[in-house]
Amino acid sequence: MAVSVPSPERPLNGGCLCGAVRFEVRGPLLRASHCHCSRCRKHSGGAVGTQGRVRREDFRLLSGAERLVVYRPAPDAAVKVFCAVCGSSLFGGRWPEGREVSIRLGALDGDPGIRPQYHTFVASKAPWHEITDDLPQYPEGPPETPAPEGP
Ligand SMILES: [Zn+2]
Ligand SMILES: [Zn+2]
Repeated sequence: MAVSVPSPERPLNGGCLCGAVRFEVRGPLLRASHCHCSRCRKHSGGAVGTQGRVRREDFRLLSGAERLVVYRPAPDAAVKVFCAVCGSSLFGGRWPEGREVSIRLGALDGDPGIRPQYHTFVASKAPWHEITDDLPQYPEGPPETPAPEGP
């Protein structure tokens, strides 16, 4: 089965639950992962925050900039960006700066052409959640990603 990779010709769209915030991805996702840290769990309301990275130049916010709320849980921590109306978790990392944009995969409308590649912060994993795949697990952040750029 062909996996479609986002491109300028075939952008991948996404947005929040209420529809106020819409965005598009115009290039391939660079990597994707599940984060089990307590911040991602609380922000998502679920077992993990699943995010993917795209180059900033491949990302376009189409609408709803005025609805975005940027919450920083601690100085130097990755931010949580959500819709002020519906609360959907949308972006993270260093929004609105940084070379890459961290996007919650659940906010995408279609197939991003990538699958989560590893688990991070499994030392903080919810006790009621069991990881059942064979992906690499890191107790904290992945070795290649400096903590402040985290999900
Ligand atoms: Zn919304
Ligand atoms: Zn996290």
